[in-house]
Amino acid sequence: MLITAAAVFAQDAPRSQENQQRCNSTPRECEEAIRKMLSGRRYLGAQIIDENPGLIVKSTSADGPAARDLRPGDRIIAVNGKQMMTASVKQFKQSLADAKETGKIFMIIQRRGAYRKVELRLEPYPKAQVDKIIAAHLAQSHPGAVAASQP
Ligand SMILES: [Zn+2]
Repeated sequence: MLITAAAVFAQDAPRSQENQQRCNSTPRECEEAIRKMLSGRRYLGAQIIDENPGLIVKSTSADGPAARDLRPGDRIIAVNGKQMMTASVKQFKQSLADAKETGKIFMIIQRRGAYRKVELRLEPYPKAQVDKIIAAHLAQSHPGAVAASQP
């Protein structure tokens, strides 16, 4: 009864009540949908924030392509020939999307005042990363559920 009431409520209410978002799909459906969604995607593995003006690397994921060449605090100056000194995060993401065919990203960054050229390659989501994203969703929206395929 409680679960049904919460699920019905979630359809009408804004999707954040105390950090617990309930999902109307089964855990298995969600897992399949997430795997499908991520299978064609490439990722950089860096969180970029807008310093207004300018873009800064806030963090990199340990197993992502950015971790090898970018450091937290790096300022992004240019991406594939496009000036990024006054760009928004949205524009940055667009320039990554534009490069998704080749996956090649040439960046100019500024680290502690010095300019550096960085060459990166966007990569498909590794299985471990996908499993982590699924586990996070299940933990948040399907309490008690366990991923169907364990790593
Ligand atoms: Zn779900």
